[in-house]
Amino acid sequence: MDHYDFIIAGAGSAGCVLANRLSADPGKRVLLLEAGPTDWHPLIHMPAGIARLANNRALNWNYRTEPEPALNQRRLWWPRGKTLGGSSSINAMCYIRGVAADYDGWAEASGDPRWSWREVLPWFLRSEDNSRGASELHGTGGPLGVSDLRHRNELSIALIDAAGSAGYPRNDDFNGEQLAGFGLYQVTQRNGARCSSAAAFLKPVRQRTNLHVRTGVLVERVLLDHGRAVGVQLRQGRHEAERIEAGEVILAAGAINSPQLLMLSGVGPADHLREHGIAVHADLPGVGANLQDHLDICTLDGNPGKLSYDHLNELSAGWRWLRHRDGPGSSNVAEAGGFVRSRFAVDARCDLQFHFVPALLDDHGRHRLPGYGYTLHACHLHPRSRGRLRLHSADPAQPIAIHANYLGDAEGHDLKMMIEAARLSREILDQPAFAAHRGAPVFPERRIHTDEEYADFIRRKAETIYHPVGTCRMGKDDRAVVDSELRVRGVDGLRVVDASVMPTLPTGNTNAPTIMIAERASALILR
Ligand SMILES: Cc1cc2nc3c(=O)[nH]c(=O)nc-3n(C[C@H](O)[C@H](O)[C@H](O)COP(=O)(O)OP(=O)(O)OC[C@H]3O[C@@H](n4cnc5c(N)ncnc54)[C@H](O)[C@@H]3O)c2cc1C
Repeated sequence: MDHYDFIIAGAGSAGCVLANRLSADPGKRVLLLEAGPTDWHPLIHMPAGIARLANNRALNWNYRTEPEPALNQRRLWWPRGKTLGGSSSINAMCYIRGVAADYDGWAEASGDPRWSWREVLPWFLRSEDNSRGASELHGTGGPLGVSDLRHRNELSIALIDAAGSAGYPRNDDFNGEQLAGFGLYQVTQRNGARCSSAAAFLKPVRQRTNLHVRTGVLVERVLLDHGRAVGVQLRQGRHEAERIEAGEVILAAGAINSPQLLMLSGVGPADHLREHGIAVHADLPGVGANLQDHLDICTLDGNPGKLSYDHLNELSAGWRWLRHRDGPGSSNVAEAGGFVRSRFAVDARCDLQFHFVPALLDDHGRHRLPGYGYTLHACHLHPRSRGRLRLHSADPAQPIAIHANYLGDAEGHDLKMMIEAARLSREILDQPAFAAHRGAPVFPERRIHTDEEYADFIRRKAETIYHPVGTCRMGKDDRAVVDSELRVRGVDGLRVVDASVMPTLPTGNTNAPTIMIAERASALILR
């Protein structure tokens, strides 16, 4: 058995940050374990490659939810990155932190003021290298490149104009003084290339002799001895299982796999574990509970002027990107968007987010539609429904059952918000800025008006916008899985550091908040 000071399970958004920061001390031996392959694939690095990554099975866990009762029993596709960089290697690169009240809420939930906005802001800034330069709210010199897009489609500008005429102000910095309004996203890119967590945090330190990185290895469980984590069991392909010892084990396998690993290790809801013949080390009913995600509805119109990226000449875009790192190949595709505080908002925060894609996007782009068009995504940012994860079996190679429970809240607030999201999308796309671009409606297939028609549309067509969190929730109550230093309750030497520890969803996308969590946690661990 080898021995390490730290074993990190999962080299995603959080895992790569941890590997970098924990191995900065040459006296600490760090092992980073990743189930997927290295991130050699060129489509990871060329931003517009995202359009083709959706069909790449080798770099994706390709999860599916269980049949969703409120969505016509549909099983929704949940992509998750499976390579160095994890989901940050396949995501849409929008760099969004959320708002102060999100983190003040986490501080309250965890009983620890160190998670308040004032205290977490420096950890966001520590990562950041913003191409616009430093300010009170932006950092420079950090490993994570954050940049303005080098290329934007004319239709993305039309979206911002249309939102303006619908009464939503322009916002040139969603991570500035305020979030509300419409504009172009800043993206996690450096020199026109994707800046995944692996590119930002791992690549520059790969030569450290105290950092070992293994890819293609599935961590199967944490080894526990008398209430303490002492290492992990892993398997490479069809080889025999290996056991590796560590002073501390850190799960950074993401919001689906970290809770699964805890359960497989005997940490979770005792009755459920016994059903699968797993010996219980710690009865933590909160493991896999509190699942939250942003449900999303897309409105699509045709574009007879053919300005959209549908049927783009990929060869010439790729060639231009290779030579100059600009042009359509450098686009994250979800170029523009915005945040709205709706008439149903329950606090001062925006409760709807929009992503605009100048292309016809059906079923995450996996179903190619004929013709040209554009897509306005709209999601509800603070869902009340809570889902849960449950084991199908004790076999680590089997995916866990995902019960997202979308629109499952008793008050019907989540459905009401989705209807509002779809209505506002229609209102924005109907503005004069699109008059010269708008063709026939694609989805919904015809003009709809009533709440019932919108509800039917949502049940047929809503999908995830990829932000599952909360399944190993940080908190101070009995159902919390980790404490405010992200230590698993009732087990020594074991932490969870990734999107699963978020008590609630932030007001926006989840990559930057996950990276911040890992920055914050690294300092706690090293102390
Ligand atoms: C298609 C898509 C688009 C998105 N777009 C955006 C966006 O534009 N902006 C944004 O902010 N967020 C976006 N997100 C969300 C964001 O990328 C994630 O919230 C974030 O990456 C989660 O980080 P994580 O560290 O928790 O998990 P991940 O980054 O998913 O990392 C987990 C890692 O652990 C590995 N792993 C899992 N289980 C095991 C095991 N048993 N053994 C070994 N390794 C294991 C995985 O392969 C993976 O590499 C998007 C996500 C997706 C999927």
